[in-house]
Amino acid sequence: MDDHSVVLVLNAGSSSLKFCVYWIAEAEAWRLEARGQIEGLGTSPRFSAKDGGGATLDNQQLDASVRDARSALDFLAGWLRGRFHGTRVLGVGHRVVHGGAAYAAPVVITPKALEDLRALVPLAPLHQPYNLAAIDAVSERLHGVPQVACFDTSFHRGHQAVADVIPLPPDIRRSGVQRYGFHGLSYEYIASVLPQVAPEIATGRVIVAHLGSGASLCGLRNGRSVDSSFGFTALDGLCMGTRPGALDPGVVLYLFQGLGLSVKEVETVLYKKSGLLGISGISNDMRDLLKSDDPGARLAVDYFVYRAAKEIGALAAVLSGIDGLVFTAGIGENSAEIRRRICEASSWLGVDLDGKANAQNGPRLSTPQSRVSAWVIPTNEELMIARHTGLLLGLTSGKSVAART
Ligand code: ADP
Repeated sequence: MDDHSVVLVLNAGSSSLKFCVYWIAEAEAWRLEARGQIEGLGTSPRFSAKDGGGATLDNQQLDASVRDARSALDFLAGWLRGRFHGTRVLGVGHRVVHGGAAYAAPVVITPKALEDLRALVPLAPLHQPYNLAAIDAVSERLHGVPQVACFDTSFHRGHQAVADVIPLPPDIRRSGVQRYGFHGLSYEYIASVLPQVAPEIATGRVIVAHLGSGASLCGLRNGRSVDSSFGFTALDGLCMGTRPGALDPGVVLYLFQGLGLSVKEVETVLYKKSGLLGISGISNDMRDLLKSDDPGARLAVDYFVYRAAKEIGALAAVLSGIDGLVFTAGIGENSAEIRRRICEASSWLGVDLDGKANAQNGPRLSTPQSRVSAWVIPTNEELMIARHTGLLLGLTSGKSVAART
């Protein structure tokens, strides 16, 4: 791989295309060259990009014709050509939300793989079509560049059957209704760095709390996923920015039968109007709620912590106790207060928080005598995708897990 060869990582959503450009430096360490996004696709598109050190490279309003994956990729390809003269894209790694029951690992995109992934659209209608549209756009616009799909679900394959079954009739289960788990690329990344960052728990029983605008927990044993708080969809488990987390299914029946809501309205309630936003009526952003004295904001934060602690207890039961607790993602990495409150609520498990270490953002958050150690470890899903892409396309040997990002 020469100086002008990069791997592109894409994360395509309904209204945004996020990207990272990685170069493999010496010793096979990935070096982040640029990170950015086109947001507001379909409304008011805007492009922004930063270099590997976080300095702004570009920030501009785009023409309204940049409105979907194809036009966004056209713009991005032009920007990359201008920015990195003579750059060759050796491969593109995509974040794809659903790999179903079959894809237990990332896969090089072939017509057969694409057909399999299209068949999973009904399981993730709000995300999968956009992920696949980006794959189609790359096939058309960067003809011949190999692509890799990395799934949010794969890391959770290999659970015991009892962890993934949803107790509904066989014909319904046969249609694909089971627990899949998500945020898998984040958990896989954390598991991959535990041996360096927290070696004493890397082979033990660990709960990782990915607390961002989406939030979930994963129980790890020896670096492998044993169970997760996400189930069939990314609505289950913890309270999130705009999603409720675990919900009595009778509530959904009542929304249809009692309140007469349409399918679309119920979907909007569940994905966009609930969780922290729904409880507080103020904001889905934890920073706003922590600053507010409003009783609704306080209840929202209390419920977020209460639910996280309750689900930590449940996963601890699955793991028969825990050796470590790891916080990651936007809230987990940045909010000492939320970490403190969750650790205090989990003190019965043996978590003894070191207030000073927590205020200083760790990485170790617990006292030396704590039976269960607590940590904060920044996640890096894009780097995980770059690593998988490099390995599957034969660009790296996989010997190095060094991250210089
Ligand atoms: P996403 O799931 O969109 O990738 P992130 O992991 O980036 O989300 O997390 C975004 C969320 O992190 C924001 O909505 C905000 O609530 C929260 N957050 C970021 N910084 C802080 C902070 N300093 N204190 C509390 N919450 C924070």
